[in-house]
Amino acid sequence: MSSSTESVSASMTAESQESRSHNPLLGRSLDELTAWVVARGQPAYRGKQLYNWIYDRSARSLGEITVFPKSWRQQVADFPIGRSQVHYRSQAPDETVKYLLKLADDTVIETVGIPTKKRLTVCVSSQVGCPMACEFCATGKGGFIRNLAPHEIVDQVLQVREDFGRRVSHIVFMGMGEPLLNLDNVLAAVRSINEDLGIGQRSITISTVGIRDRIVKLARHRGQFTLAVSLHASNQPQREQLIPSAGGYPLDALIADCRDYVKLTGRRLTFEYILLAGVNDTLENAVELADLLRGFQTHVNLIPYNPINEVDFKRPDRRRIADFVAALEARHIAVSVRYSRGLEADAACGQLRALKL
Ligand code: SAH
Repeated sequence: MSSSTESVSASMTAESQESRSHNPLLGRSLDELTAWVVARGQPAYRGKQLYNWIYDRSARSLGEITVFPKSWRQQVADFPIGRSQVHYRSQAPDETVKYLLKLADDTVIETVGIPTKKRLTVCVSSQVGCPMACEFCATGKGGFIRNLAPHEIVDQVLQVREDFGRRVSHIVFMGMGEPLLNLDNVLAAVRSINEDLGIGQRSITISTVGIRDRIVKLARHRGQFTLAVSLHASNQPQREQLIPSAGGYPLDALIADCRDYVKLTGRRLTFEYILLAGVNDTLENAVELADLLRGFQTHVNLIPYNPINEVDFKRPDRRRIADFVAALEARHIAVSVRYSRGLEADAACGQLRALKL
């Protein structure tokens, strides 16, 4: 290595270390927060205090952590915890709430809180926008801006917890973005949501349209979360029509990776299938889908299409949906129909879109 390359790489390392040291505090573990306070000359027990204020008491700035000595609090007051601002909030009649959250760089993401009597599910985004451009999804129509950092994912859970004033029980990575294109940050966020916010991994679902090599990479991580794969078609030509990226990752290869995932993790996997009237909802589709999934320990979630502006797909009627379900059940495929919540707030699956202010 020449000395000039050496100095470039040395300065890059210094730079990346420097930028890492300015990473917001949210998303860091107790050990990391303790190291952070100790590096600033404070006793280690202040790490635990910081941890509690960030994760339990939802502190938004270091200045408000009144257990810290005043002079030190003032010194570090500008160091970011990494909380976003609620830019807009809209509530549907079914009590689902959609939030537009404004991030530090003025980009805006969507998060959805979905309550039932026993559960509070947060649908989180993993990217600002999405590069996948699926035909039926509003997020893809707005293009891709950037990946979310771990703290920006964890923050979404805190926002919903604070607004509802109750414990979050479940997380689904079904907001904006393709989680497997931002795998490291998603896994860092999953760690924090699990360990720091106390949400069981089994209550966390990561949904993907399928990215080559990433499903197996995820399997090697050996997490206890649930993987959901967005299938939406029962054969390759049809899938390519609906999902542009499917061309580079044929259905057979995707299903083979899913089978490996189940073998490696011992976890069941869910398939999602949007029902589009006259497109992928025929009896032939149901039979083909059952053949594709034969012998697979799995569950199929059928999602009746939610309308978006740009395209004129239609949701099948109830009779047609019931026939599709019956055809799968007759072939021993476990199936449920999931009507998305939050339709009136444009908060349902596929209706979320990113913006830059
Ligand atoms: N990129 C990931 C996660 C985001 S989408 C994925 O594709 O799985 C979460 C779910 O909503 C996916 O199954 C997606 O296909 C579905 N979806 C997208 N647009 C929809 C629409 N208009 N109506 C119903 N479901 C939709």
